[in-house]
Amino acid sequence: MKKSDLTYKRSFFYSFGILCLAVILSNCVWKPEKVGNEKLIVCTTTIIGDAVKLLVKDKFEVLTLMGAGVDPHMYEAKPSDVRALGNARVIIYNGLHLEGKMTDLFERMNDEKDIIAFSNGMEAKRLIKLNAHSKDPHVWFDPILWLQGIKECATQLSIIFPREKEFILGNYAKIESDLLNLHSTITESLNEIPKEQRVMITSHDAFHYFGKAFNLEVLAIQGVSTVSEPGLKDVSNLVNLIVKRKIKAIFVESSVSSKSITAVIEGCKSKGQVVKIGGTMYSDALGDKKSGADTYLGMMERNVKTLVNALKSR
Ligand SMILES: [Zn+2]
Repeated sequence: MKKSDLTYKRSFFYSFGILCLAVILSNCVWKPEKVGNEKLIVCTTTIIGDAVKLLVKDKFEVLTLMGAGVDPHMYEAKPSDVRALGNARVIIYNGLHLEGKMTDLFERMNDEKDIIAFSNGMEAKRLIKLNAHSKDPHVWFDPILWLQGIKECATQLSIIFPREKEFILGNYAKIESDLLNLHSTITESLNEIPKEQRVMITSHDAFHYFGKAFNLEVLAIQGVSTVSEPGLKDVSNLVNLIVKRKIKAIFVESSVSSKSITAVIEGCKSKGQVVKIGGTMYSDALGDKKSGADTYLGMMERNVKTLVNALKSR
């Protein structure tokens, strides 16, 4: 063998060795590539979708899985939802088990998708504990807490899409100012309700954050989730309380059956107390376009107007 052939062979094996080593090393730190339609952001509820649309405007396509008036506690992903999630570049959800039946799906997708939970940005001390293991998921009813979730979302989206950072953070600043204004407007409006009537009774326990943020007593027939049906005892306890405190109105919810509320009204009637349905509260989902509650700000304003009109003194 000629000397030049030997040098060629040595240099070939040397380069091949380096290449193998590079492949082995790169495999050690290999992470699955984030896949999906680069412009598609998929959100779970209409309330989350509204915040995300305000952050990214028309720079991205924002798809919301659950429509207006849909109950997130009971929601199961349809085949079209699984396809949309698979196609998404980013998935955004509430967290704290609001989307009870979808949480497993998000955990399984964690390696291949960028997933943002609003609740990750919220101060732990502001969250309401239900028991040792779980927290109340209806966080959007405290505008300040909700703002923390939107900020988390804006920060994460700026990291995922660094070129849009300035745009997203600029839009966040406008939302921040709107939500701080909303907080003051609600505080002012609720002052029209006399002290003894500052009680909000609804179908399911969605309004504890609202009560805490605005100093209002909040009661419900059903628990925090709509999964379990209310019992007769829950209805009769509430009837006794309404009669004792002469409460004028109770409220139905757009995303929950009004069956239990009707049972409470009948119960009060049998004890000689007339209590009326004060109106519909938007709780876990926004309303349709006609309702005026098709945005977060619209929903909060509509709820407060309904509450004040039904409970203020005449
Ligand atoms: Zn709920």
